Amino acid sequence: MALFVDKCRNNHHNYIKAIKHKGDVTMGYKEFEDFQSLVDSHLLRHRSLLDIMTKYQESASRVNRALAKAVTSCGCVEIHAKKQEIPDDVSLSGLKAYMDSHLRGELCDQCRDVIEKELGNQLFFMASLANLLGIRLDEVLEKEEKKMDTLGVYGLR
Ligand SMILES: [Zn+2]
Repeated sequence: MALFVDKCRNNHHNYIKAIKHKGDVTMGYKEFEDFQSLVDSHLLRHRSLLDIMTKYQESASRVNRALAKAVTSCGCVEIHAKKQEIPDDVSLSGLKAYMDSHLRGELCDQCRDVIEKELGNQLFFMASLANLLGIRLDEVLEKEEKKMDTLGVYGLR
């Protein structure tokens, strides 16, 4: 188990390294700070906490709606869900092999585009909420990274 946790930690460090070295493609900590400033300058209409928190919640629903439409309207992806079947004697390191995402197929370009836009909208309102509460997303990201380093492997929270 210790080996597996170490492997996950190494993968995680490599991922963070990749983020930091590909700043032009993926967000690093500094880019989050810039993004929050940009969001603040673009948010004109919905500046009330009530507007921001409900728009943030709505944006999460819109991500799920876009994914549901990829299944029911487009059909590029399917959901084949059933109870996870995990043998009693499986080790922690072997667990991943038994966990099914229940997702079949790949997003087509059109569905991917829609979902990316909805995720972007969600990020916008997350940043707006953080701005209003005086929370820095780069610090949130850093704390989350430290938590993952400490906890190692974990399931859905
Ligand atoms: Zn599609």
